[in-house]
Amino acid sequence: MINIDNVSKRYGSFQALKEINLMFKEGEFVAVLGPSGCGKTTLLKLLAGFMKPSEGMIKMYGEEIGSAKTLIPPNQRNIGMVFQSFALWPHMTVQEHVQFPLKHHRFVEQKLRGDAASRVQQVLNLVGLEHLATRFPSELSGGQKQRVALARAIAPEPSLLLMDEPLSALDAELRMEMRKEIQHIHREMGTTIVYVTHDQGEALAMADRIVVMNEGSIEQVDTPEIIYNQPKTVFVSTFVGKCNLLQGRWQGKNEFIPEYYPGVILPDIGVSPEFKHGNVYPIRPEQWSLAKPQGKGNQLIGKVAFSQFQGKEVHYTIQTGKQSLNVIQSIGKPRHQVGEQVALHICK
Ligand code: ATP
Repeated sequence: MINIDNVSKRYGSFQALKEINLMFKEGEFVAVLGPSGCGKTTLLKLLAGFMKPSEGMIKMYGEEIGSAKTLIPPNQRNIGMVFQSFALWPHMTVQEHVQFPLKHHRFVEQKLRGDAASRVQQVLNLVGLEHLATRFPSELSGGQKQRVALARAIAPEPSLLLMDEPLSALDAELRMEMRKEIQHIHREMGTTIVYVTHDQGEALAMADRIVVMNEGSIEQVDTPEIIYNQPKTVFVSTFVGKCNLLQGRWQGKNEFIPEYYPGVILPDIGVSPEFKHGNVYPIRPEQWSLAKPQGKGNQLIGKVAFSQFQGKEVHYTIQTGKQSLNVIQSIGKPRHQVGEQVALHICK
């Protein structure tokens, strides 16, 4: 549905996006994830039509909508937008917000335009605001305002919904609730969603695919499961979830010889092939299993430096000669005390 071909964006001499190549399928929920300043909003603005790429081309259904020469403006693209700031109009009620695009957007199907009142009702039901239809924004909570912004964006049935950190102004509990709400709406409507966030939990929980960005470039595009279980770069492994990085060298494709632990050989635990060209072994805290050291041989020994009870699991910091390692153990496993010597094994 959307093709982004070799797109770069410069602000003066600063390059905010570097040769981006991406393809979004119809109906997909794609999260664009990355730290502040990596170019997420710039990418969204290019998709919305607020500005042109410096180089490259964006196509929607095969038609060129943005390049250094072409700019189809936002009102001529069949898109909806939801921002972090809600951007509501203080003089309009909830139902007037939802009605507005039905009257004024050029892509609204005649059927929807003709029966705007029932479409407003349907959308307000979908976002759970039917009982607040006549309220003004000043009479709504943060979560309710965000629902109005969402309802306004989806009412005209856009083929593409762009969302820029839509939940970041809400408190933690409401954010969780709204995640489900947005997933529900996506399931009901089947609209293609591009969802910008710096919150890895949000991206992992909601998206079909995640685009991880760093300093204007794409690091990895994959499903949440692959991004988490098989990160391709050091950046992805540490930006999405916690990851221990052991220095050393790969011996063939299936064994890793860590630098600081003589006699230890670590097996391949499904590390992505990209990592095997380097000198790092990535391992998640929950991929370790702790035990009392027994005899000698192929085991990595350390001392418990910190232990934190977290309800369902215990988070340990294990000090080994040169490095401290993060380890997570589920609560059913034997508890280890600070100062205790432990062996770290790999869960298979
Ligand atoms: P955040 O999560 O903080 O919103 P982001 O990933 O969305 O960040 P962008 O807003 O796309 O990042 O900005 C990418 C880079 O481009 C940043 O370094 C930013 O300072 C720069 N930038 C953005 N807009 C402009 C502009 N109009 N002029 C100059 N530089 C800009």
